[in-house]
Amino acid sequence: MKYIIVGNGVAGMAAAEAIRGRDAAGGIHIYTEEEYYHYSRPRVIEYLGGLATPDKIVIRGPEYYAKLNIQLFRGTAVESIDTAARTISTRAGVDSFDKLILASGATSFLPPVEGCRSDCVFTLRTIADADRILARCASGKRALVIGGGLLGIETAASLAKRGLCVSVVEVFDRLLPRQLDADGAALLRTMLERQGLAFLLPKKTAAVRPAGEGADVFFDDGSSAGADLVIFSAGVRSNARLAAAAGIACDRGILVDGHMETSAPGIYAAGDAAQFNGVVYGLWPAAKEQGSFAGRNAAGEPALYQGSQLSAKLKVSGIELASLGAIGEGPGIAVATKRGEGTFRRLFLSGGRLAGAILIGDTSSFVPLQRLLKSGEPIADPEAL
Ligand SMILES: Cc1cc2nc3c(=O)[nH]c(=O)nc-3n(C[C@H](O)[C@H](O)[C@H](O)COP(=O)(O)OP(=O)(O)OC[C@H]3O[C@@H](n4cnc5c(N)ncnc54)[C@H](O)[C@@H]3O)c2cc1C
Repeated sequence: MKYIIVGNGVAGMAAAEAIRGRDAAGGIHIYTEEEYYHYSRPRVIEYLGGLATPDKIVIRGPEYYAKLNIQLFRGTAVESIDTAARTISTRAGVDSFDKLILASGATSFLPPVEGCRSDCVFTLRTIADADRILARCASGKRALVIGGGLLGIETAASLAKRGLCVSVVEVFDRLLPRQLDADGAALLRTMLERQGLAFLLPKKTAAVRPAGEGADVFFDDGSSAGADLVIFSAGVRSNARLAAAAGIACDRGILVDGHMETSAPGIYAAGDAAQFNGVVYGLWPAAKEQGSFAGRNAAGEPALYQGSQLSAKLKVSGIELASLGAIGEGPGIAVATKRGEGTFRRLFLSGGRLAGAILIGDTSSFVPLQRLLKSGEPIADPEAL
């Protein structure tokens, strides 16, 4: 059996490991556009902030690929898939497969804003992106991060650590609109302001116009701000173009069933590239889980994926923050809040069971709450948790 995996991120790597655990002799070829061996994408934040070097965030070096007898093609983009001939093409030639796994990840989204392709505009997804941002930091000191989600805040905090003067722009009237409610967001904002970050919100970015060595960023309320570098952190889009061009069904991501199989038999998708049950997770643990399920199924072991948990932790030193499950009030949702000295915990319960949680200042109950969320166990007294 011969397997090809497009993507060397956590989904692709988990798929390869699952295959090798079940098929000792099959050929495994992994293709990646990047030059690095498998590294931790979340830890790119540490590299940007000067807390780690690229070699420190590499998880699997060449010896690991050799041990698992995996052939890795670095810096090699897969350009097309022929589902009938069961081949993929790269600039180097054609490679054939029995089973194909599409773990091509996602690309940072650049909203259609005037000037968003200027030299001083960046996004952050890869080590190479961080290198480009750091090169710019050498000559500029004012950064504007557009997007107050997890990645935007972490990017801003990393640049502040590098000594830049950083402002975060958010279209909503609060930070982390997907992970926090209004109270949690207000507390987080105060903590980040104490670390030197400034916030412009709610503000919708309308244009980026060159000004000297940097740019003036204009907002739709008529105000503007000057910056030497502008980083858009406005979400990601699944890399599904390759699959769509091959006739594989796609929506926002590559559509998969519970076996992580696409509309083309024997072709699977996983991670940020895949859409399962209407969801593109965009999270490391979910990509790992999906990759593992895709690998198991590709290797002939039927395994049914039933979805992953939505949970996230903020990676800003000095600030403990985690959010899990469905947060937000509404009909049938009970809320239990506990405030302490610098801490805030809010649990959201539906039908007496945990639906979601926000933890700020103390995240020690994150793992037990994750377990509770997964098990769906009834909670008699939320205050006692
Ligand atoms: C800075 C940063 C911080 C993050 N922090 C967190 C966090 O704290 N917690 C969390 O849960 N998630 C976090 N995420 C999200 C998480 O990193 C992703 O969900 C996860 O890495 C997705 O893994 P993946 O394998 O699906 O895709 P990726 O890691 O994006 O890997 C995709 C791979 O596909 C390759 N590829 C794409 N197209 C082609 C092609 N045509 N030919 C060949 N190769 C191709 C790429 O080169 C790459 O190797 C963060 C993301 C970023 C950018």
